[in-house]
Amino acid sequence: MEINLKDNLRKNMLHQRKNMKMENVSVFSNRIIETIMKLQEFINCKNIMLYLSFDNEVNTYTLAKWCLDNGKKVIVPYCIKETREIIPFEINNLTNDLTKSSFGIMEPKHNLLKKADIEDIDLIIVPGVAFDEHCNRLGFGAGYYDRFLPKREKNTSIIGISYDYQVINKIPTDVYDVPLDLIITEKRIISRLY
Ligand code: ADP
Ligand code: MG
Repeated sequence: MEINLKDNLRKNMLHQRKNMKMENVSVFSNRIIETIMKLQEFINCKNIMLYLSFDNEVNTYTLAKWCLDNGKKVIVPYCIKETREIIPFEINNLTNDLTKSSFGIMEPKHNLLKKADIEDIDLIIVPGVAFDEHCNRLGFGAGYYDRFLPKREKNTSIIGISYDYQVINKIPTDVYDVPLDLIITEKRIISRLY
């Protein structure tokens, strides 16, 4: 039942995202990144983990580049299909250290790079297919982040980035779903604490 609700929502949201105008992807992504860059959580962080965007996901490349150029360590997920596990790797650039995965998504060259210590990560930027006003998150349905996020240090902030239409009143959740601290859209900041 819950699975069906989640699946319907995923289909609906992914359909909307697929049909976004290129211009909106770029304008909204830029606004979201500008908002992140003004947050204390971002300003104070030294080691930021972020996803590498694909298709019409909120674009994270300008943020990643800015961090690399400004002395923040950048950590990106390497996904292990068999166990649906994320291993974080530190990257030093957005060219040589990345390669295209079998899914067609960019990933760190895990054979050449250093695994990051999860305890050192002080901010995690997560993707999502849908979110709600209580900071719950719906992913692609494989549970990668639900397995990874509980391993973080407790004071590590988790920020979801999302187009405003992806945020709905309530998404179905299960016990293993990990809520976020903040969601940033091109229109607003949603905090779990308020
Ligand atoms: P997503 O978070 O990607 O939207 P779901 O929340 O539907 O996906 O979770 C997908 C699957 O992952 C579920 O079948 C669930 O049993 C499994 N899962 C989620 N979190 C964990 C966990 N911490 N340990 C083991 N399995 C998990
Ligand atoms: Mg989940």
